[in-house]
Formats: sequence, C-alpha cells, structure tokens
Amino acid sequence: MDLNDTPEQVHYRAKVRAWLHEHKDEAPAAQGEDDAAYVQARRAWQGKLATAGLAGVTWPVELGGQGLGPIEHVIVGQEIVRAGVPDILDVIGVGMLGPTIIAHGSAEQKNRYLGPMLHGDEVWCQLFSEPAAGSDLAAVQARAVLQDDGSWRLSGQKVWTTNAHFAAHGLLLARTDADVPKHKGLTMFIVPMDAAGITIRGLRQISGEAEFNEVFFDDVRLDADAVVGGVGNGWGTALTTLMFERLTIGLGSESLGYQAERYAAAIATDEHARLDPEVRRRLGELCVQLLAVKFTGYRMLSALQQGQIPGPEAGLAKVTTVRAAIDAGDLIADVLGPDALDAESEWAYMISFLPGLKSAGGTEEILRNTIGERVLGLPPEPRLDKGIPFSELRAKERAGVAAT
Ligand SMILES: Cc1cc2nc3c(=O)[nH]c(=O)nc-3n(C[C@H](O)[C@H](O)[C@H](O)COP(=O)(O)OP(=O)(O)OC[C@H]3O[C@@H](n4cnc5c(N)ncnc54)[C@H](O)[C@@H]3O)c2cc1C
Repeated sequence: MDLNDTPEQVHYRAKVRAWLHEHKDEAPAAQGEDDAAYVQARRAWQGKLATAGLAGVTWPVELGGQGLGPIEHVIVGQEIVRAGVPDILDVIGVGMLGPTIIAHGSAEQKNRYLGPMLHGDEVWCQLFSEPAAGSDLAAVQARAVLQDDGSWRLSGQKVWTTNAHFAAHGLLLARTDADVPKHKGLTMFIVPMDAAGITIRGLRQISGEAEFNEVFFDDVRLDADAVVGGVGNGWGTALTTLMFERLTIGLGSESLGYQAERYAAAIATDEHARLDPEVRRRLGELCVQLLAVKFTGYRMLSALQQGQIPGPEAGLAKVTTVRAAIDAGDLIADVLGPDALDAESEWAYMISFLPGLKSAGGTEEILRNTIGERVLGLPPEPRLDKGIPFSELRAKERAGVAAT
C-alpha cells in the first residue's frame, strides 16, 4: 500500500481488514430512491464502525476514540475503500467539528455531544458560509444578541450547509460584537437544528443530489451554554475547524477514489483511445500529478505522525487532486462521449460533482494566494479592512454603493 507500514501497523491493518471482511455484508447497499432510508442505514453502519474502533481513530481514548495517529486513520480509510464499503456518514462531524469541540469545548459539551456524534446517533452540520461570507469567512453577518438572562437570540442566513436537512446539531459562527474589527467580534455556538425559528431549504446540484442547504434563523433562542470556546473567540475556534477541514480533505483524498490506476483502467478498455498518442499524453500528465500528490500526502502524514502541524503547502494537495480529477473527468468524457454522463455511468457523478469541489474547503484562488504569500514569500494582498470596526466596514460599503 506504499505506506511502508511498521510491524505494528502491518498488524493493525490486518486487524482492520479482518473486521471489514467479516462485517462487509452488513454495510448499506448503494443509494436507492429512498434518501431517508439510505441516511438511516449509513448512520447505523457508522455506529458499527465506531463500536469496532474504526471511527474517531485519532480521537482521545477518554472521549470514545482510539488515541491512535493519522497513519492509522489513513490505514482505516484505505481498507474501507479496499473492502468496497461506505465510510462513516458524518465525516464533517467526526473529522472537523468533533475535533473543534475536543479542542475548545467545555467538559459538559464533550460529555453530551461527542459520543452520539461518533456513533452516528446525532449527525452534525457546519454553519459557517453565508451568501456574503465564503472565502472571506470573517465577514459573517448572522447576529447573536445576548439577553438579560444569559441566553442569546440568533438571526441571519447560512448557505451551502451540507447535511443540514438531517442534522441534529450545527456548529455556527455568528457576530456577537459589530463594534470591533471583523475577526474579533465573532463567537461559535452549538445550535439544535430543530429549534423554533430555523428554516432549512435544500439546494439541488447539477449532479442531481441535494446534499446542501440554505438555513434561515429567525430570532432563534440559544442557551448560555451553547457558546464554544468563549464569547469573542469565534475566529480562533473557526481556524481549528478549518485546519481539520484541510486535513480531512487532504488525508481523505485516496478514499475519494481519485486514483490514477482507476482512470488508466477505464481508458485501457477503449481500444482506440488507448493507442491515441494525445489521450496517452493527457493520461500521463494527470497520473504524474496524482502520484506527486500521493507522495506529498505521505510526507504530510509523516510530519503529522511526528507531532508537527503541516504548513500552508498542505493546500496544494487539495488544489492538485481536484484539478487532476477534473482533467481526468474531461478526458474520460472525451473518450466515452455522452455515455460518460449517462445516469448509469460510473463517471457521471464524479464529472458533475467535481467542479463544486473547487470551492469546498477553500477555493483554488484562495489556496494559491496563501501558498504564494506564506510559502513563496510573495507580497500579501492589500487588506483594506484591517483594524476597522465591522459596523463601519458595512457602512462604508453601503455608502460606496449609494455613491455609484
Ligand atoms: C460541495 C460543497 C460543500 C460545502 N459544504 C459547506 C458546509 O457544510 N458548511 C459551510 O459552511 N460551507 C460549505 N461550503 C461552502 C464553501 O466553504 C464555500 O463555497 C467557500 O468558502 C467559497 O465561498 P463562496 O462559495 O461564497 O465563494 P466566494 O468567496 O464568493 O468566491 C467566489 C470566487 O471568487 C474568488 N475569490 C474570492 N476572494 C478572492 C480573493 N481574495 N482573491 C482571489 N480570488 C478570490 C474565489 O476563489 C471564487 O472563485 C461548501 C461548498 C461546496 C462546494
């Protein structure tokens, strides 16, 4: 498997493989017409994986995890792909939001939420992006106002919220003080998704699915203990989630099925395409890119296993994997023609879903900016909002619009 497993890891892999072999018939079959039944089956499967120790591999033992390293996490992902069974349903919760609560949550929050999250009993969603706050996440306008009794009242809108339609809870970034610079007046909250005043509307994608949603908050009451990481510390808390988001996408890329071997095998079945020099050149180019990503990923993994935190160059893995997979989709569509997009085709979902992945987890332009500034030492982008209270920024924007 290229990872150069140590004897302990060889043993661990064998154990994981044996469990998956024994239980793979209990995994849910491919998604049918009934979305709700499929989600239910995926939650039950997540519960089985968690009970077997194959979810939350890097979570601390005292919080229900296995206390193992990122290499063991990747081994589990590789073996799940090998067994041909689905991974956990709540990748966002277990991979990103749980670790945020572990890092910043109170003891009560950890006790209350982490167990049901890990076992799929309560699915979570990430309520960060808004119509005017995606790449510029610190510009969120959803507003939480403190009440005399210590509770909060939340109003505003979120968008692109994956899994909100079946989530029990969401982790939400809101503005609690507009009179300080934009990164300072933010607070993170746990939101029960069935609270009065919440409206969830599905957004249908070109791939045919409706995985994400718009979520509206109309004077929603939140208890005082809904705050995660302290009032006004929302930006620091959000950065933890974003770091885990990059890692989840980066370390998960092998499990996403974007593998050079798979594309090469598909092209090889077409007798004309496999002899066409232009097809061979394009395939060669994207295979080289995916191979480079794979070994860069292993380098990142070694650094993580030794307790180091990967630098901004980790964003390159996401940019390159998604680019190469989009190029592969284009190549396969050129070879197979319209059949590639037929509903029955194994490629239809990948080809239609991938362009959206350019935005998820940091857009390509933003990641390239970060790499340019922090890895290559290029001059930073001009920051016109530095040190200015958020309320004045909005007033200036409005005045600018009025003047034009
Ligand atoms: C599949 C998918 C799932 C998602 N799930 C969630 C979720 O569960 N929860 C959640 O909160 N969000 C989610 N998102 C939202 C995602 O985080 C945002 O799409 C992302 O942050 C980009 O924001 P935006 O779409 O508003 O684009 P914008 O920020 O409006 O950007 C539009 C374009 O302008 C470019 N751009 C913006 N600023 C700059 C700049 N300074 N320099 C150069 N170019 C720039 C961008 O690169 C992009 O091409 C999801 C997105 C996708 C695609």
